[in-house]
Order: sequence, then structure tokens, then C-alpha cells
Amino acid sequence: MKHFPIFLDVEGRDIAVSGGDEAALAKLRLLAKSDARLTAYSAAPGADIRDLAACGRLTLVPRAIEASDLAGKVLVYAANEDANEDRRVVTLAREAGVLVNHVDNLETSDFITPAVVDRDPVVVAIGTEGAAPVLARAIKAELEESLPPALGPLARVAKGFRQMAKALPFGRRRRTFWSDYYSRVGPRAFDQDGEAALPGALEQLLAEHLDASPEIGSVTFVGAGPGDPDLLTLKARRALHDADVVIHDRLVTPGILDLARREALIVNAGKRGFAPSTPQAEINAMLVRHASEGRHVVRLKSGDATVFGRLDEEVDACAAAGVSCSVIPGITAASAAAAGIGRSLTRRQRNSSVQLITGHDVEGYAEHDWRALARPGEVAAIYMGKKSARFIQGRLMMHGAAPDTPVTIVESATRADQRVIASELACLSEDVARADLAGPALVLYGLAPREAEAVARPKREIAL
Ligand code: SAH
Repeated sequence: MKHFPIFLDVEGRDIAVSGGDEAALAKLRLLAKSDARLTAYSAAPGADIRDLAACGRLTLVPRAIEASDLAGKVLVYAANEDANEDRRVVTLAREAGVLVNHVDNLETSDFITPAVVDRDPVVVAIGTEGAAPVLARAIKAELEESLPPALGPLARVAKGFRQMAKALPFGRRRRTFWSDYYSRVGPRAFDQDGEAALPGALEQLLAEHLDASPEIGSVTFVGAGPGDPDLLTLKARRALHDADVVIHDRLVTPGILDLARREALIVNAGKRGFAPSTPQAEINAMLVRHASEGRHVVRLKSGDATVFGRLDEEVDACAAAGVSCSVIPGITAASAAAAGIGRSLTRRQRNSSVQLITGHDVEGYAEHDWRALARPGEVAAIYMGKKSARFIQGRLMMHGAAPDTPVTIVESATRADQRVIASELACLSEDVARADLAGPALVLYGLAPREAEAVARPKREIAL
């Protein structure tokens, strides 16, 4: 983010616009919505600017801007549509230490003016750092349609009621009160009797909320999917948005955590393969403690919470403590990796079952029914298989699996840095080592990628 968005208090402060034609007029019209004092400088101002001056919305100085004009200004716009004159204004502003916007010139501007959706006091500013003004306009049009005109009055009246609402404890209870007002009670009262009905509606709603019994906490186990935030379910998004506390795995990506509310407590309980991590008992205790104190906890697990996620242990801990909990499923890495290589996990007449297996468990390398897996056509999704690749390869070949059985490693499935490595059983461990995998990786045993660019490697002789 090169341009950091802020809302500047311009009430009663001076803003200068240099220019008398269309560009200056556009800025003046936008600025006229604010409470700033506006001065336009132009030796030959257009009729519209003269009209704005005539109705008292701005002061018109009928000459070019000078250095002495800049004293006390908070912002200056160079909007002359004349490169030399604009450059002169930018230089004057710099010398005076006043922030300057050089219209349509990102490089020489200190700030840029966003596209604005105005429901005063609710204001949405949309910026694309100059990259896509068309997109900004499209977003603005969409927001103009979706934000009800009543939003302004609703927020204005709410502002005067904030002190009263503090009778409700900070956090969820107060938040629920406000969301009730904005989504239900406020719009209804406004539709019936307009803005005048809002203070009464707020008072009545507050009384109802003060009477209500205190909030009971809960734990929601949420599958965060393989990493792409677009692959979260709507329920998962809602739960995240609603959470007071989010306790997440190491593999949950920052883009997903960004969807939590800014005030939510975010705890990384990451378990990293063999490295130190938050002990399970501590995670269980944390879940129970927060929920018992009335908070809504989201336990965010990568992929699907029911696959290699120690879900039962945490649900059992909640149940034992009388904490209510629920599970929202997510897309597991096996589905994500299969999608990434354009292959089906099951296929008629090839495999009517698929195994989700782990490379290692609490006791070390995990044992499986290798003989069954070694049969032609079998498919398995191997989780946590990086370190155990050699072991798995050895076991399968020892039990008669064909050395040229296709195996595909999918690293960081669905993420921007997804990598697909096509291999064969005989070279699996070698290829895993060579790939130098930094992200999470899933090994798809029995499947080759469909993509042309990931063509199977040439067959090699192997010594058993
Ligand atoms: N509950 C998760 C699995 C947790 S175990 C799920 O359903 O996906 C962690 C293992 O999942 C990692 O070692 C890796 O094998 C796999 N994994 C998780 N996210 C992945 C991703 N984006 N790409 C590839 N593998 C992934």
C-alpha cells in the first residue's frame, strides 16, 4: 500500500484549488461536500466556478496562485490542465510544506483523491493507487446501489446515542445491539416515520438489550480450506466475522485471518511438524476458558477440521466442560490438490475408494495396509508426507507396487505459489528432496497431472 488512506478533519480549514476549468471544477464539486473553506485561484474561471463563488460555497481569487496564498492551507490542488502552471504550483506547495495533489499526475502528487460514496457521516473512499480508475468507478456504482440512502441518517442519529449505549458492556453485547439497530430496528423505524423516529427506536432497543440475559460463549470449529480465501464457505466467513477470538493453525494463511474483525483476539496455536508448538492440552484449555467467559471462539483449522486436525480431542474437551460447539466443514488438501492437477480422486473402473493417509503419526512414521495400497489403480492422498517420502516409497515397493506408479506432489495447493511436481513411485523421495518444498505439500499416490506442462518425467532405471 503506497498510499495510506486516512480521513482528514478539514472542518473550517483552508483548501486551495488552482485552476478555472473542468479539472478544477470536478475537484471543487467534490470538496464542496466537505466542511472545508475553499479558495479557487484562476485568472479566467469558467462559469460554473463563478456560480459556486456567487452562491458563497467558495472564495474566488481572479489571478494565479502565489506563494503567499499558501500560508495556512492544509491541501492544495494543482488543477490548471497546463503542465507548466501545474508544475509551478507543485513547487510552491512543496516549498510551503503543504500537501499537494497534481491532478492526473500520480508521480508528482503527495496524495490522491479517492472515488467517494457519500452517506454522510458514512463515507466510503475507494482508491486503486491510480492503477484502475475504471474499476474504482465500477465499485463506486455498485456501492451506491447497495448502500441504502437511509444509512446517513441512521449513522447520524447513532452517533448521538453512543454514550447511552455504553450502558451495555463493551464487546459482543454492545455489537449485537448496534447490528440490531442498523440491520433491523433502525431501517424499519426510518421507513415508517423518518429520521425523527430513530432516537425513540434506539431507546426502546437499548432497554430490550439491557433486559436480555448475558451472552453464552461457544466454540465453532471452522475448516479454513487450503489457503485461498475464496475457498472458504459462506458459513466459515460469517463465523470468522462474528468471532471474538480466533485460534488458528500454522497453515492458515494471512488472507484468511484478515477476514476476522479488527478487534478480535487472534492466537496462533501453530503446530509445526516436529518443532515446538502449543501443547494440545493448552489449546483445549484456551478454547474452554474463552468460551466460558462468554466469547465466541473460532477454532480455525487448515483444510477440513475433520481431517488430521485433532478435532475429536478438542470437541471432547469442550463437551467435558459443558461448552457448546459446532463444526463447519472446509475443503481438505486432498480435494484442493486433485483439483490442482485436474484429476478425479476416484474413477469408475480404476479406483472405487481413496485413502487419506498421514506420513507420520505420534509414534513416528505411520504404518498402513501397504499390500492393499500397492495394488494397481489404488489412489491415496498422503498428508504430512514430505519427511516420510522415503519410508512410504520403500514400504509400497516392498509390497509389490509398480515402480512407475504415478505420484504427484502438490505444494501450496490453491495458493498463488502452487507447484505441481510429477513423479513416479521409484523416484518419489529423490524428487521430494530435489523440489526443496517450503510450503505444505500433499502427495497424490496413483495420480498423474493432466496438465501438459507437468509431463511425466522420463523413466529411469532403479536399483531395488
Ligand atoms: N486439516 C488439513 C490437514 C492438516 S495436516 C486438511 O484437511 O487439509 C497438514 C498437512 O496437510 C500438510 O502437511 C500437507 O500435507 C497438507 N496440506 C495442508 N494444506 C495444504 C496445501 N495448501 N497444499 C498442499 N498440502 C496441504
